[in-house]
Amino acid sequence: ANPAPDTEHAIPVTTYADVGGLDKVIRILRETVELPLKHPEVLRHLGISPPRGVLLYGPPGCGKTLLARAVAHESGARFFSVSGPELITKWHGESEENLRNLFDEAQKSQPAVVFFDEIDAIAQARSSDESLRLDSRFTTQLLTILDGIHDLGRVAVLATTNRMDLLDQALLRPGRFDRLIEIPPPDRDGCRKILHIHVQKLPLAKDVDLEAIIEDLVGASGADIAYVVREAAYASLRRAFDLNALLEESVPMSEDRLRLIVVMAEDL
Ligand code: ATP
Repeated sequence: ANPAPDTEHAIPVTTYADVGGLDKVIRILRETVELPLKHPEVLRHLGISPPRGVLLYGPPGCGKTLLARAVAHESGARFFSVSGPELITKWHGESEENLRNLFDEAQKSQPAVVFFDEIDAIAQARSSDESLRLDSRFTTQLLTILDGIHDLGRVAVLATTNRMDLLDQALLRPGRFDRLIEIPPPDRDGCRKILHIHVQKLPLAKDVDLEAIIEDLVGASGADIAYVVREAAYASLRRAFDLNALLEESVPMSEDRLRLIVVMAEDL
């Protein structure tokens, strides 16, 4: 069988502090994912079962993957990631067996999070597309596993989609992805928090007015904001040094010279 797309399965390094403007969602995830992973005995005591699967839905680039990694980190859980589109190409013909293996492996290394990114790519409803025929078998297998998940132990199943409308409704029935959590685009305050997270490590000039920049960012996604900050960092580097000359140098740059790289308002 092909190796699973993500063979590292490490505990992610992302934390809740890396996620901006989604405090309410984090609270829900702590209760629905982190608690059952860390203290299954508490849920047993209460006589309630954790959700079988948690589906994070919302527009692209607003923190779904980030949240899944963060909740795994905070739960001390290994992360088994499967990307929907990648699965079609890499697991072609062997998707059911690989899926079974992935869950077996997750179970062996629990606590674990099994994460399906862009699950709509594999679990689409009523598709007339030839290439998706295999994937209905995959969906069936996934449903079978979800239906038997009470035996899985401390394994949480998370998935994301930004095409809720395309999703096979069978996935959303009770006992499957039975917890739907909307990840909305950031509002003004969310943009502010995301910007602050991303500029944290940036060598910012003292006079940069972040509030003024936030005005321009309203309506942007978290991914857009991360992009703006990264580009600003490169712009500041280009202003300070000639890249070609820099790449010719073979010794690390001294602290004094590094201090010449400063991000100014015009870069952002
Ligand atoms: P897609 O649906 O395209 O997979 P997504 O919702 O999963 O998108 P992420 O992959 O979580 O989006 O976000 C992409 C990048 O954008 C993150 O790695 C991060 O740098 C930044 N980002 C997005 N949302 C946030 C947020 N709420 N707080 C901080 N950074 C964010």
